[in-house]
Amino acid sequence: MRKTLLASLIQGPLTEAAPRPDEKALEEVSEGLRRAARRSLGRSLAIREVDTGSCNACELEIHALSNPFYDIERFGLRFVASPRHADVLLVTGPVTSNMREALERTYRATPEPKWVVAVGNCACTGGLFTSSYACVGPVSAVLPVDVTVPGCPPPPIEILRALLALLVGMENDTPQNV
Ligand code: SF4
Repeated sequence: MRKTLLASLIQGPLTEAAPRPDEKALEEVSEGLRRAARRSLGRSLAIREVDTGSCNACELEIHALSNPFYDIERFGLRFVASPRHADVLLVTGPVTSNMREALERTYRATPEPKWVVAVGNCACTGGLFTSSYACVGPVSAVLPVDVTVPGCPPPPIEILRALLALLVGMENDTPQNV
């Protein structure tokens, strides 16, 4: 035991250093979001995250949007706990058979106007799980999807780009994919 403790003190942590976020890309997207949010939102945009069968890596990237670096609340975008308070459903994972009804009920509980963003390859196409007996398929098999964010998982900057595309699309009434 003493030997193990001593070895761990000498070795230090074995984890890799976290990748540096792309500050230039963030500044670009932030400026676009600031302008689009000012134009399109008379109030804040409320987002309800829905996990329909994800491995949770997509959720980790979504969580990062609320950290002090990305800090999406500064653009008037915020996460809410209930679909009844939401404008946007951010859906992750392939839609499993068990989660299909929950997703449909969440969509029905969201007031109009509402938008759906599919985050991650699983939500966009079904990913690895397309042919699984336990999955219905991508989110578009269940709900109309306005914007897709491919990636496994997509980094926070791509999710921000998608929200920017959604805001710009709201102005033109045609949400754009990133
Ligand atoms: S897209 Fe990748 S990271 Fe996201 S839920 Fe699917 S397997 Fe996990």
